[in-house]
Amino acid sequence: GQETRRLSDEYEVLDILGRGGFSIVRRGIKKSSTHHVAIKTLRRLGPSVMLPSPPEGRKREKQQQLHQREGVAVSDALLTNEILVMRRIVEEVAPHDNVIQLYDVCEDPTGDVHLILELCSGGELFDRIVAQERYSEAGAAAVVRQIASGLEALHRANIVHRDLKPENCLFLNEREDSPLKIMDFGLSSVEEEFTHPVVGLFGSIDYVSPEALDRGQGSIISSKSDMWSLGVILYILLSGYVYMHGEFSFYEKTWKNISASAKQLISGLLTVDPDRRPSANEILQHPWVIGYSAKQEQMDAEIVSRLQSFNARRKLRAAAIASMWSCSIFLRTKKLRSLVGTYDLKPEELGSLREHFQKICEKGDNATLPEFEE
Ligand code: ATP
Repeated sequence: GQETRRLSDEYEVLDILGRGGFSIVRRGIKKSSTHHVAIKTLRRLGPSVMLPSPPEGRKREKQQQLHQREGVAVSDALLTNEILVMRRIVEEVAPHDNVIQLYDVCEDPTGDVHLILELCSGGELFDRIVAQERYSEAGAAAVVRQIASGLEALHRANIVHRDLKPENCLFLNEREDSPLKIMDFGLSSVEEEFTHPVVGLFGSIDYVSPEALDRGQGSIISSKSDMWSLGVILYILLSGYVYMHGEFSFYEKTWKNISASAKQLISGLLTVDPDRRPSANEILQHPWVIGYSAKQEQMDAEIVSRLQSFNARRKLRAAAIASMWSCSIFLRTKKLRSLVGTYDLKPEELGSLREHFQKICEKGDNATLPEFEE
């Protein structure tokens, strides 16, 4: 099949675009063409990339030991899931302006799998928004319209993203009218083949729906869970504040200049009962989303500056979580002491590593907090 073709036969690999917990994403060009692509390489043994490097010789040996013991199952499950969902997108969602396209899949003899994706060079959603000179409700509505349109296509194909967050929305190009693309289907699921999340929803807790947090109660994560996440994104877009899972309100001071129509939409999306939450298809008809009732005026300066600092904090946290992810495989079964052994960390490095984890974990989800041993 196509998966066994080597990457280097068909693509020239260029610079690194980004890194995820189990992946590295690089720019590439299809040989004998000028077509630029993004190559997302999922390593069967990815985590070592982000960790402080152990001395060279020992590295391979340690990796092999780990390969045999753990780690592999996690990344294999993730890998299979992402490919499954991406394939379904190719089959069931015709190329859509707001969903990242998969062109091809290659697998190396080493077991690394390469997803050849549409290249998005326009940056992450919030980075662009905070850099804008003018930002209005109408601008936010255009964003919501694009995300809802992508979600509508995915949901029609029974695909639930399950990890919708601003960092998974990238602009295709630098142009002002660039389409916004939903990407990163690593945690997604196909509804009729519903399986429990392969890994916890750690790292995106802010955007997770109540029913997703409430897995023990037999509730089902459905396309409506993505609508909740969109509601959180919208709440942040219009206030600069993160709304979590408690009671939410539209504080007069922050929300006084925001249109009633926008607040009504947010209240709908952040409805705890998923059955009463609107679908993507429904909100595409909403007067605020179509732009009819969205204000054109420049947003209040405090909202924009809060959004800027939110974005800066988010970026820091994302970097911390990326390394946390990498470490969590080790920490799940081993105590920190063995990590010290493996990576020759000094006590002060250990201290900062612990602080680092605790900060990330402050927001909840203690289930993934690794056990620390003095
Ligand atoms: P996470 O650990 O956050 O789930 P991941 O392993 O699923 O990450 P991605 O989020 O898909 O990896 O990609 C990692 C980074 O690579 C992204 O933050 C982004 O900066 C960059 N990237 C991914 N896909 C593309 C693309 N198609 N075009 C341009 N850059 C991309």
